[in-house]
Amino acid sequence: MSQTPPPHSLHTSVLIIGAGPAGYTAAIYAARASLSPILVAGPQPGGQLMITTDVENYPGFADVIQGPWLMEQMEAQATHVGARVVHDLITEVDFSRRPFTCRGDSGDVYTANAVIIATGAQARWLGLDSERHLQGRGVSACATCDGFFFRGKTVAVIGGGNTAVEEALFLTHHADRVILVHRRDALRAEKILQARLFAHPKIEVIWNSTLEEIVGGGAPETVVGLRLHDLRSDTRRLLPVDGVFIAIGHTPTTMVFAGHVDMDAEGYIRTLPGSTRTTVHGVFAAGDVQDKVFRQAVTAAGTGCMAALEAEKFLAEHPGMGSFAAEQGKIGALDQIPSHSS
Ligand code: NDP
Repeated sequence: MSQTPPPHSLHTSVLIIGAGPAGYTAAIYAARASLSPILVAGPQPGGQLMITTDVENYPGFADVIQGPWLMEQMEAQATHVGARVVHDLITEVDFSRRPFTCRGDSGDVYTANAVIIATGAQARWLGLDSERHLQGRGVSACATCDGFFFRGKTVAVIGGGNTAVEEALFLTHHADRVILVHRRDALRAEKILQARLFAHPKIEVIWNSTLEEIVGGGAPETVVGLRLHDLRSDTRRLLPVDGVFIAIGHTPTTMVFAGHVDMDAEGYIRTLPGSTRTTVHGVFAAGDVQDKVFRQAVTAAGTGCMAALEAEKFLAEHPGMGSFAAEQGKIGALDQIPSHSS
């Protein structure tokens, strides 16, 4: 009979939590700084790019590349330069003293002198079967990533917040016609964005309507229309479109850090402007977990690099392993760290 192996205790200078572009980039830089980082890859290693097909905007590749392939390369590069990638899910953290302690779902305990949080954010989906089925074939949650593929076409955007309006405006650079579908009769987006939206000749808004089904057709199958429910008249209709962008918000993956680092009202980790430092000295945050504005693989990678460089500097300045509770006040004043939201 097989027995569960006993839990391990692993110590590292830098523990990186999360295996997206931010986490892998932090691991590459930390490994090349001889910090022997451990990267704990959660349940969906690779992050959002694992559900992205064609990637054309990550610099360095003249040809279209695939999101999962890019993440495989990042992992291979991180391990090649000396990072250790562990497949576990961090379920508990203690950032009250150094070394910091993180406990994994496996029972293993990770201690570290510095921690980089790079757990990302997940796009919210409506939860329709057809949405899942046609993802990457006309259904997307990122206009910056996929808008280019809809040159000269008709696309819809679902949502009424800043993201939805920005996505709709962005899509006008590519699509001939952009239809914003919102479930209410008023947008939640900032007024200035609304004004731009309403003034744009390529954009129409369908109010008080929900998306019930995304209709596919052709071979290979792609999006051909949306079945909408008009809540006012209680009628249904088919809206022909070539693609649909779901823009109903994102959820940062930060539950496990609640109460341990400061977050904004939406659960994004607050960092000092121009830095990846959080309110806990020695804990850094990189990528979408602290960025609700840009949300790009390349910006996540950029902040991952910043986090590793800042962790390296922090470790050089704090070689001791004693309790550092008294140091926290130095950057701990919450009102010094504004939220990243607009
Ligand atoms: P929001 O939560 O602001 O908006 C989500 C929108 O999606 C709402 O209009 C909501 O409708 C709608 N929605 C939610 N669930 C559903 C559903 N199941 N079916 C249909 N519609 C749904 O998210 P955003 O991503 O737009 O913005 C998040 C935060 O990021 C905000 O603070 C925003 O200001 C910020 N942001 C800032 C940007 C910038 O500074 N440039 C860019 C993008 C975002 P309803 O209104 O009815 O609730």
